[in-house]
Amino acid sequence: MVSAKTLLKDVFGFCEFRPGQRQIIDAVASGENVLAIMPTGGGKSLCFQLPALLNDGLTVVISPLIALMRDQVRGLKAAGVAAGAITSGNTPSEIDTVFSQITSGDLRLLYVAPERLASSKIQNILRKSNVRCLAVDEAHCVSQWGHDFRPDYLMIGKLRHSLGVPLCAFTATADNETQQEIIERLFGGADPKVFLHGFDRPNIYLSFVPKDNPRIQIMNFVDKRKGQSGIIYCGTRAKTESLAQALQEAGHNSCYYHGGMDADRRKVVESRFVLEDGLVVVATVAFGMGVDKPDIRWVVHADLPKSIESYYQEIGRAGRDGGYAETLTLYGADDIRFRRNQIDEGLAPSNRKSADHGRFNVLLGLAEALECRRLNLLHYFGETNIKCGNCDLCERPPETFDGTESVRKALSAILRTDQYFGVGHLIDILQGNFTEKVSNHGHDKLPTFGVGKELNRVKWKAIFRQMMGHDLIRPDVERYGGLRMTEKALPILRGELSITLRADIIKSAKRDYSVKTLISDDDAPVLSALKAKRRALAENAGVPAYIIFTDKTLIDMSQRRPLNLDEMSQINGVGTKKLEKFGTIFLAVINGEVDHMHPRRQKLAGAKEGEMYDLLLAVQFKLSRGPLGVEKPLSCSASLLSKIAKLKPKSLDEMAKIIGPKKTDRFGAAFLDALNNVT
Ligand code: ADP
Ligand code: ZN
Repeated sequence: MVSAKTLLKDVFGFCEFRPGQRQIIDAVASGENVLAIMPTGGGKSLCFQLPALLNDGLTVVISPLIALMRDQVRGLKAAGVAAGAITSGNTPSEIDTVFSQITSGDLRLLYVAPERLASSKIQNILRKSNVRCLAVDEAHCVSQWGHDFRPDYLMIGKLRHSLGVPLCAFTATADNETQQEIIERLFGGADPKVFLHGFDRPNIYLSFVPKDNPRIQIMNFVDKRKGQSGIIYCGTRAKTESLAQALQEAGHNSCYYHGGMDADRRKVVESRFVLEDGLVVVATVAFGMGVDKPDIRWVVHADLPKSIESYYQEIGRAGRDGGYAETLTLYGADDIRFRRNQIDEGLAPSNRKSADHGRFNVLLGLAEALECRRLNLLHYFGETNIKCGNCDLCERPPETFDGTESVRKALSAILRTDQYFGVGHLIDILQGNFTEKVSNHGHDKLPTFGVGKELNRVKWKAIFRQMMGHDLIRPDVERYGGLRMTEKALPILRGELSITLRADIIKSAKRDYSVKTLISDDDAPVLSALKAKRRALAENAGVPAYIIFTDKTLIDMSQRRPLNLDEMSQINGVGTKKLEKFGTIFLAVINGEVDHMHPRRQKLAGAKEGEMYDLLLAVQFKLSRGPLGVEKPLSCSASLLSKIAKLKPKSLDEMAKIIGPKKTDRFGAAFLDALNNVT
């Protein structure tokens, strides 16, 4: 029997299991009932796909998302696995093919849409074939109380019983009630082995920034990430349309998506997003559930989401391939007002409303946090053992100040005006501005009038926003949004408690969102050539780019620069089948073609320097792993090579001035030789 580790490499092309995968796979493979709770992007498909190949027989996968099934089947086939699907989207002849594969015992993984489970034809075929295991994706769909309830899921328990096979269920929903319902309805009460794993997604960079000209903040962010696929979540439908338009006008490939569009138009956006490289989708939360694109490089929240759960789910769509991904959440006092009103004006009973306020508070706490976002976020999901270093606060710990005095002044202004006014007017009072509104209400006579002159308007705004963030004050619907003090503020008002606020927020709002460099300058040209090749292949085959190779795989290639198929097979994400199909093509890109087509080289075309450039490139290729071919790959970028060709250094010292000492060690002498040969 082949080992799990061998299959992992040969079929899926991965070198290591992700946290938790190994244990789940072992349990599933040994025929136990399993309930695994894993966050989106945690890699749960592998946990039923790999066991399906370890043993013989057929694994039946039930999933509510047709697009996702189709993608997985396509991915499995590309990796050389016999997989098929039965959904309402299949043609009769496709279904016949699948049926005959089942009957002949060739099929290893069969994806079935839940609504097809009722068909007696399918039930009969399954009963007669060698089904070894049932795998249920998005298992929380069996829960009547969740948002995603699918009545068809109730059939699964019966099917398991009639087939008499073990079942493994997967979900990203961690709460206890849902777990209990899943156990009851899918496993008939028989206790499955429960795994709860890894809500941390360490590859996702977390950051929050207060709104300060948000349109420009978003433009800056997107400008720096041209060519990367990303999602911008907005609070309203109208905003998705206007923002998408603005992005287009700024030259970005972008479109909008919301629940008000008809199904066909939404489908077009979904499939464009999967197929096109670097499309920016501006969307409401309606976008996501059916989108299984592993190489989304960033997610921006143009408005604050409604709860910490939504936040987690939405940012979780980025970087599912495990590669570096970024998130940015913009927030401001308006968002807080908007979300609070939404809860207050909703139809839910009052205990539910206060629970919703509570969950929103957790998100606000995250936005105004003073230390590590990840620690804060995962604490909420019950995880404590977290290492981060990949969030804005770990990177730049915020400056703080004792805000007690300012907060008390603000609270006093609120109380003395009977909690009827909004931020703008309150700041006028604090700063002692004689506006019309101030004199109309006689507020210049208040003892608080002008007590806050020491701070400017921007700073006061930041303080009010943080007070809302700490839930010391809330906008009151019944008072037209006037700010009302909450119980939580009392101890501060009474001087029993002090409060620390962030000072740097105001400065950092102007910060420039530079891109984290994924790779060094030296590797960038190779990576972009690899991506171009991937795009061409994907377009030719009409499949999404990541079906060929993920970003992470291409980055690995550009850094490790395999010289032959053996080395290529060591790259993360290159399985046997893909090695056979694409190995040589990508090797060619890495080891030659790239720089010939490089624009720097083109500029030199026809000149003596052009010839020299080619010679340098050939020399560099020979020495890229040192004279014995065993050292770490090293190379000079196209611009460096063209500089050498033009400047023609005469000595190693001069050479080192251009390419630095390390590269001079490796290439210097050989480059000088080459230069002498041409001139
Ligand atoms: P989900 O848990 O949301 O269903 P998937 O199963 O789609 O997530 O996996 C998310 C991504 O992680 C996919 O691109 C998959 O190829 C990748 N992945 C899964 N397991 C591994 C692994 N052991 N090593 C590297 N990448 C993995
Ligand atoms: Zn952190």
